[in-house]
Amino acid sequence: MTSRRDRIRAKVMARVEIVAGPLDTPCHIWTGPTSGNTGRGKDYARMCLDGGTMAVHIVMWVLEHGPIPPRKQLDHRCRTRKCVNADHLEMVTHKQNQRRRDEARRFACEEIAA
Ligand SMILES: [Zn+2]
Repeated sequence: MTSRRDRIRAKVMARVEIVAGPLDTPCHIWTGPTSGNTGRGKDYARMCLDGGTMAVHIVMWVLEHGPIPPRKQLDHRCRTRKCVNADHLEMVTHKQNQRRRDEARRFACEEIAA
């Protein structure tokens, strides 16, 4: 018998492309619909679940680790928004997430400038 959890996981895994990323384990790149290609929340994987639209990386995290407490967010350690590999996510506060994003951006600028 397959659990609901297994069914959801299978549904997600059927729509990902497994590619080497910056981390030790490969990224699971979502090939389904996303949150679009403009704005601050762009490029996140989206799926329909229980009649609603859900962020796929959050779904995968919750299946693995349980619900996300209020005021916490998931950060992509691989910096790839379309990646839905739960191993590549880390729970952080909003502040930590912002600081990391700023650091990553600064690093990218320095790299280009160098
Ligand atoms: Zn990844």
